[in-house]
Amino acid sequence: MTSGIPIFRTVASLRKWRQSLPHDSTIGFVPTMGALHEGHLSLVTASKAENSHTVVSIFVNPSQFAPHEDLDAYPRTFDHDLSKLGENGGVDALFAPTITEMYPSGITLEVEKQKGAFVSVLGLSEQLEGKTRPNFFRGVATVVTKLFNVVDADRAYFGQKDIQQTVVLKRMVKDLLMRVEIRVLPIIREDTGLAMSSRNVYLGEEVRDNSKKIYESLLQGKKIYEAGEKRAQTIIETVKSGLNDELFKIDYVSIADKEELQELETINENGAILSIAVYVTEGDRTTRLIDNIIL
Ligand code: AMP
Repeated sequence: MTSGIPIFRTVASLRKWRQSLPHDSTIGFVPTMGALHEGHLSLVTASKAENSHTVVSIFVNPSQFAPHEDLDAYPRTFDHDLSKLGENGGVDALFAPTITEMYPSGITLEVEKQKGAFVSVLGLSEQLEGKTRPNFFRGVATVVTKLFNVVDADRAYFGQKDIQQTVVLKRMVKDLLMRVEIRVLPIIREDTGLAMSSRNVYLGEEVRDNSKKIYESLLQGKKIYEAGEKRAQTIIETVKSGLNDELFKIDYVSIADKEELQELETINENGAILSIAVYVTEGDRTTRLIDNIIL
């Protein structure tokens, strides 16, 4: 590839590069699973604006996938990712390690057979996404800890798209006394309003177009909230009624507080997170989409 972006495949080589930087360097870090789109690039752009050096990682992390999930099917588009980063003005380092580098003792997706060190953020990982994906945030917190240990960043950039992830990781950084600052950036959307996601490539054109209803429903919920409705259940019902279509199977619509992710009955002056997860099915393929909006 001719992107000119230095690619590091091992922990040792990335560390060596990191240590060669001037002492007053500031490092911005954007962890991704690849299949890069404008959402990822918005994080890269923010990092470049705020730091002297930017590191992007591409690693499809096995430990955040359950055995029945789409680890093998997850889109892997390395050359395309490299060109996207190049078109966006490049980055200082691309860390794309192998599974063995990141899990030197090995990793199985079967949680009961896993051994060794993992990171759990209790009280924030079990609800919402954690209900259908019970070990997801343990996998995320574990791999992000490993990546932070390698990159030694000053700031790390995450999207509001995965809002529970940002709450979990902020708590992890606080409780484990990590030095990195977590920066959260807004959701980048398709022209239709559908939140960009690497998994959108799974969607056929018609379903993709119809999926704009997810964001439209959230906006409808926000609208009645701003008009004075503070009862969570009423707002949730409004969101659900916008998705009353056989295409969608709602996993959850939630109104939760911003720090503890506890379900609210009434929204007070602190506001709330209105979030949603839906399954869209076409043929024999089902895709799970998430989105959220701050109230
Ligand atoms: P992923 O590659 O899906 O693990 O995402 C890597 C990072 O990009 C995470 O911090 C995501 O929250 C963020 N991200 C994904 N989609 C979007 C989006 N549509 N807008 C902003 N950030 C996003």
